[in-house]
Amino acid sequence: MNQSPDFDVVILGGGMTGLTLAHHIAQHNAAQPARGLKTLVLEPRESYRRDKTWCYWRQASTPFDEAITHQWSQWSVSFNGETQVCRSEHMPYVRVDSGRFYDIAQREIEVSDSVTLRLGEAATAMTAQHAGVAITSEGESCCAKKVFDTRPKPLPKDILLQHFVGWEIETDSDVFDPSTVILMDFVNTAQDIHFFYVLPFSPRHALVETTHFSKVIPADEIYAGELETYLASRFGLREWRTLHREQGVIPMPRKAPDLAARAHRQIVPLGLHSDTVKPSTGYCYPHAQQQALAQVRALFARPDANPNTNPQDHAVAARSRLNRWLDAVFIGFLEEHPERAGEIFYRLFSRVPSNALVRFLSDQARPTDVIRVMTALPMGAFIRQTFRHVVSA
Ligand SMILES: Cc1cc2nc3c(=O)[nH]c(=O)nc-3n(C[C@H](O)[C@H](O)[C@H](O)COP(=O)(O)OP(=O)(O)OC[C@H]3O[C@@H](n4cnc5c(N)ncnc54)[C@H](O)[C@@H]3O)c2cc1C
Repeated sequence: MNQSPDFDVVILGGGMTGLTLAHHIAQHNAAQPARGLKTLVLEPRESYRRDKTWCYWRQASTPFDEAITHQWSQWSVSFNGETQVCRSEHMPYVRVDSGRFYDIAQREIEVSDSVTLRLGEAATAMTAQHAGVAITSEGESCCAKKVFDTRPKPLPKDILLQHFVGWEIETDSDVFDPSTVILMDFVNTAQDIHFFYVLPFSPRHALVETTHFSKVIPADEIYAGELETYLASRFGLREWRTLHREQGVIPMPRKAPDLAARAHRQIVPLGLHSDTVKPSTGYCYPHAQQQALAQVRALFARPDANPNTNPQDHAVAARSRLNRWLDAVFIGFLEEHPERAGEIFYRLFSRVPSNALVRFLSDQARPTDVIRVMTALPMGAFIRQTFRHVVSA
């Protein structure tokens, strides 16, 4: 390194992935102060407020479980007039309040004397040097042995995107069934893959989202029109109070970023624009929790390992090669047969036992789960897709 490092680790972005990683580093530092990693998190936000709703099937505890405000043991998928209700007591679908998540993460960092969160400071440039990284920011510049980069990146061209708008609404009459999440309600009207998602917090309070998988993002009025039509046709609603709005775009590349092929050994891209998100589902939160834990364990297991001698060193991929490959085949199928998406999702949720499917969707599948999923799908079409993927890989 041209300049001696100021930090062992710098994390660019104090969002969901960056704060999860910082939280685990702070906990490890507290447990092993002699081996602590001096860590800096750079985040342009001046302060945090609730900005997102993170849901996932909970299979293990995380340090942020206090931020879970709701959980459901039932969810449904509807297509072509049929509804399949699925159930799991062991793996409930949970909702994390992002405001509470940010509070928990900040608390752990505040009591740490080796992890610092600098708010109101964006990274502006980064240069990989011989054995470290120089980071320029709006405040002080610094050098780090290792950088985890969770900043948003421009969306790649010509790939499928999961894009959605959600309204958290309150009504004057009981309209929602709080026992069951509507996970995917395909209404069969759009040209692309389109479904609605309803998180019912109470009979009068829900988050209702319109979600598309397509390559083109429409104007905001289109989403608003879809939500109004759905609220009227599905729940008979003409009036409601909107408490909160959220919106997102999640890339669904066939070829997801591969940490092993990253440009610089000392710069590890993580988060929604790297390999953390599962591209076929758009779920990122549970994978970020698992990846951060494994990543920090790896850092503490071999803190002095030289990244130049071991190219894999200190970068823990979010999912196995098999899971990456299954995602690629599935996304390839959706790209080529968007008209069959509703039928395919309905088949999966109605033919595969709930626990097996949840493990599969969470990258925790056992071999028998993979077989159950494979046999639920139209074999001929998926074998052709698999062959195409092998040929183009
Ligand atoms: C509305 C919405 C709902 C979602 N719901 C779910 C869900 O239910 N379940 C699920 O699993 N996933 C969900 N996701 C996907 C994913 O979990 C979230 O997007 C999550 O926030 C991704 O974490 P991240 O750390 O990659 O990005 P972020 O949390 O966005 O963090 C990136 C950080 O980088 C910071 N930054 C930007 N520029 C710079 C810079 N120059 N220097 C330093 N920092 C910078 C940003 O301020 C931000 O804090 C949702 C996404 C959205 C948008």
